[in-house]
Amino acid sequence: ATPGELKWSKAPCRFCGTGCGVSVAVQDNRVVATHGDPEAEVNRGLNCVKGYFLSKIMYGADRLTTPLLRKKDGQFSKDGDFVPVSWDEAFDVMAAQFKRVLKEKGGTGIGMAGSGQWTVWEGYAANKLMKAGFRSNHLDPNARHCMALAVMGFMRTFGIDEPMGCYDDFEAADAFVLWGSNMAEMHPILWTRVTDRRLSHPHVKVAVLSTFEHRSFDLADIPIIFKPQTDLVILNYIANHIIREGKVNEDFVRKHVSFKRGNDDIGYGLRPDNPLEVKARNAKDPGGGQPIDFDAFAKFVEPYTLDYAAEMSGVEKGWLRHLAELYADPKVKVMSLWTMGFNQHTRGTWANNMVYNIHLLTGKISTPGNSPFSLTGQPSACGTAREVGTFSHRLPADLVVTNPEHRRHAEEIWKIPHGTIVDKVGYHIVEQNRMLKDGKLNAYWVMANNNMQAAANLNEEGYPGYRNPDNFIVVSDPYPTVTAQAADLILPTAMWVEKEGAYGNAERRTQFWHQLVKAPGEARSDLWQLMEFSKRFTTDECWSAELLAANPAYKGKTLFDVLFRNGKVDRFPVGDVEAGYDNDEAKVFGFYPQKGLFEEYAEFGRGHGHDLAPFDQYHKARGLRWPVVNGRETRWRFKEGSDPYVKPGSDWQFYGNKDGRAVIWALPYEPPAEAPDAEYDLWLVTGRVLEHWHSGSMTMRVPELYKAFPAAVVFMNPDDAKARGLKRGDEVKVISRRGEMRSRVETRGRNRVPCGLVFVPWFDAGQLINKSTLDATCPISKQTDFKKCAVKVVMA
Ligand code: SF4
Repeated sequence: ATPGELKWSKAPCRFCGTGCGVSVAVQDNRVVATHGDPEAEVNRGLNCVKGYFLSKIMYGADRLTTPLLRKKDGQFSKDGDFVPVSWDEAFDVMAAQFKRVLKEKGGTGIGMAGSGQWTVWEGYAANKLMKAGFRSNHLDPNARHCMALAVMGFMRTFGIDEPMGCYDDFEAADAFVLWGSNMAEMHPILWTRVTDRRLSHPHVKVAVLSTFEHRSFDLADIPIIFKPQTDLVILNYIANHIIREGKVNEDFVRKHVSFKRGNDDIGYGLRPDNPLEVKARNAKDPGGGQPIDFDAFAKFVEPYTLDYAAEMSGVEKGWLRHLAELYADPKVKVMSLWTMGFNQHTRGTWANNMVYNIHLLTGKISTPGNSPFSLTGQPSACGTAREVGTFSHRLPADLVVTNPEHRRHAEEIWKIPHGTIVDKVGYHIVEQNRMLKDGKLNAYWVMANNNMQAAANLNEEGYPGYRNPDNFIVVSDPYPTVTAQAADLILPTAMWVEKEGAYGNAERRTQFWHQLVKAPGEARSDLWQLMEFSKRFTTDECWSAELLAANPAYKGKTLFDVLFRNGKVDRFPVGDVEAGYDNDEAKVFGFYPQKGLFEEYAEFGRGHGHDLAPFDQYHKARGLRWPVVNGRETRWRFKEGSDPYVKPGSDWQFYGNKDGRAVIWALPYEPPAEAPDAEYDLWLVTGRVLEHWHSGSMTMRVPELYKAFPAAVVFMNPDDAKARGLKRGDEVKVISRRGEMRSRVETRGRNRVPCGLVFVPWFDAGQLINKSTLDATCPISKQTDFKKCAVKVVMA
């Protein structure tokens, strides 16, 4: 572009999993404006308030522009202060520390926390570097905190990940049921589609279920506030209602469904000596997944009567019956939507399975408007964390490290020796903090996440690991987050349109963007950092002697050569990606790494139900929903005529499972890990607010968003406040058995909480509510329950 010229381009929004299209205006190497892309199907020209201010997220006053290393007397020192250093010095020190650990422990001493905010190729490159290069599966994304449980829900019911429906369902549904989702604030653009449908079609109904009243209740025809954890009871009651009222779609169930009883795994994933863990482990009868029949399932849910559901949940019977009828009535097309209310739940995998149960009993699935739809939080929780397989148990396209055939398949595509990928599940992100504290992980790289703010129980299981003198912690981030400040080395990172990228949104839509501006100072993309760092290691330093002896051709090669030059790489003349565009990584490496990595990655899914289009097609399109076969995207999976994988004459085919059937699971109610008692007498629920995205590291640096909601508050019922001698604006302490935070009481406003419960948002780095939360996880998915623990609130 010539100086002063204003140039508009397209990109997906940097924030949530909705994946809105954004028009981006660039002038003199600076993003100067953004607005909703009118050509984007997802948002049709709209953006929410966060998307509206995207142009400002890169220009916070404290943007990092050079690596910072803790030094004392000119040397790296864990006790030193941060000092600017060159990339060479940063990588020299970092490589020396990683090599120390490799020598002492091998790859098992190395860990990485990644992200659903990585671009597809950044996640893919990290996966290769960790699982093939360092031979460590201790790579896990922050998506463990938000979507791990949805993944397990999909895998257990359908044998394949991600929603079968798409956003087109919004315009076809007759009823929307929000299970633990405040779409009005968390997915505002999708909420506009729900609102439009509801207000322009009087027969449409909206049911909102939550443990407190939030903005989505403004549209609710069926408002339901239930006692924490009793969503499990309500779900089984609905299944029971459908059966008792004779509303089962018998033909669908006979042809397309199987039944299993599950009572999976035990415990909450806490340390074994934690009293809550001891209690949980003693209480359960392990075992699960036994096949049963319809009659056994019907008998299993029989005790979940209307009376029992009302008593357990505290919800009036009339509302419960009304809700159940939405699902039971064959004329009503139902879209169920959920996010963290379901997913941050010690039995949330069950909750995901149970909502599929009621769609499967009625056959309300995979047709327009009939859609159990798991919404995602991060922009590429689907595209990067899940599809690329950056979880500690996963490989791309739903493959897992524990399956020998899957490992072999990945090794073939990656052109690395058989036996390179370790066969054990690595530490997930919650465990990683504990392993750092215990000295089992010693070299640790954090990219595109703020886990020192986001993880639960930070006092006991977060900070101590980062400051353990045996450990070397690296954080790559555009800003000095609390995680970065706890590290030993901070690497300045390029963000959003400062690099070429790809994200995958909640409806399986893969979206691309070009690099539009240069990153400030020495900031570099995560992709550049991963690839450049890989040049400093040879296979001799990372792989076992046995592996190298059996594969001498790999001896002495750098990880860069093995991982990033060994595959298919499409060379191209620099600056010729498309007229007018440059790409910094291509200039440095002399080839087009994004294209090479994407095409290699796409090999995993093509022909296996995850087909992606050729790389170049995405730069032209406003995203495509996979599987993309013969240039055609798929809107409804598992349905004949829409999904190319469904055999003619099958009608529906749940091909993720070998028998082509989806599984209805018989699953019980189970009490939460921790509940209020005489001393800690309130439920604590944490979450987000409209103006801030996750830990606020970007949105708190946008003046307008900061001013709109500058600090976390404790939303409290006025009667609870009065009973404690508190009033609105008082400074209080929120105290749990694990830690405390200070904040101010809010008894009005957008969240109206019932007596016995407080809601505290977690975006505020100055008031870390996660010092108080409990790190109990769902035993199946290992995802933390941030929605339920016991606290007391006292005057500060
Ligand atoms: Fe961005 Fe999500 Fe807002 Fe859309 S709804 S503009 S993706 S934050």
